[in-house]
Amino acid sequence: MCGEIGTEVHHKVHLTPENVGDPEISINQENLMLLCNECHNKVH
Ligand SMILES: [Zn+2]
Ligand SMILES: [Zn+2]
Repeated sequence: MCGEIGTEVHHKVHLTPENVGDPEISINQENLMLLCNECHNKVH
């Protein structure tokens, strides 16, 4: 996002006990963003 190397995976749809077993949510690339720690903090 800022050009830094991403170190953390952010889920666009946040994981909950209900959806964590759903591959469409938990491992779907469309739902994942690789962010550095700073950007990850910003999106939360
Ligand atoms: Zn996140
Ligand atoms: Zn960043």
